[in-house]
Amino acid sequence: MAVNVIAIDGPAASGKSTIAGLVAERLGVPYINTGNMYRAVTFYAIQQGLNLAACSEEKLSPVLEHIKLDYVKAASGQYEIKLNGEFPGAEIRSPEVVSLVSLVAALPNVRTWLIDKQREFARLGRIVMEGRDIGTVIFPDAQYKFFLTATPEERARRRLAQDGEAPDGATVESVAKAIAERDLLDSTRKTAPLKKADDAILIDTSGMSIEQVIEHILRYIK
Ligand code: C5P
Repeated sequence: MAVNVIAIDGPAASGKSTIAGLVAERLGVPYINTGNMYRAVTFYAIQQGLNLAACSEEKLSPVLEHIKLDYVKAASGQYEIKLNGEFPGAEIRSPEVVSLVSLVAALPNVRTWLIDKQREFARLGRIVMEGRDIGTVIFPDAQYKFFLTATPEERARRRLAQDGEAPDGATVESVAKAIAERDLLDSTRKTAPLKKADDAILIDTSGMSIEQVIEHILRYIK
């Protein structure tokens, strides 16, 4: 039987978080952003002084032993990540974390460590879960699967307009390049690469408004 999960996957800055959060809100169900788990691990490892440009499973293994990740219902009513008892906030969106997260996410032991934590959320009943491998690896039997994309320029423009992830002085070109590098790392890694599940619905959101994308998704679900 299909598990009661709405999986939303796609490359960096494809609008997944915004869309997944709003779809969950419309449906009145929890939304889980799995990218924040990889970001929290990366942030913690940076804090411990690890040189992540040369990271390995051996280096990350002892670090994982000191990390506790929880998702708690925040004042917003949504589930937000806690790293060792604290909300990490904007720190996990810093340009430094963004530039290193894909190296950490490529390590099989990091992914294995997170799989059970991600699958546990199915106990909440219907959920929207967003990431790179939700429809392929975490919940291959998810009831609904969507894969969002947009052109690199469109994604770079949205990222620049949206949040503090881009370094100071960033341009559409430099952000597009950084996004392309992250996508390449994410889609060519051996373990759970970024990939559309064969049975996922592909939505190219270039030129679509947020509302149009949400309506498109909800049409399938209702
Ligand atoms: O979605 P977000 O940009 O926050 O994800 C940050 C990074 O975490 C991605 O670039 C990817 O390397 C990793 N990630 C992953 N699998 C997921 C979610 C995120 O590998 N399910």
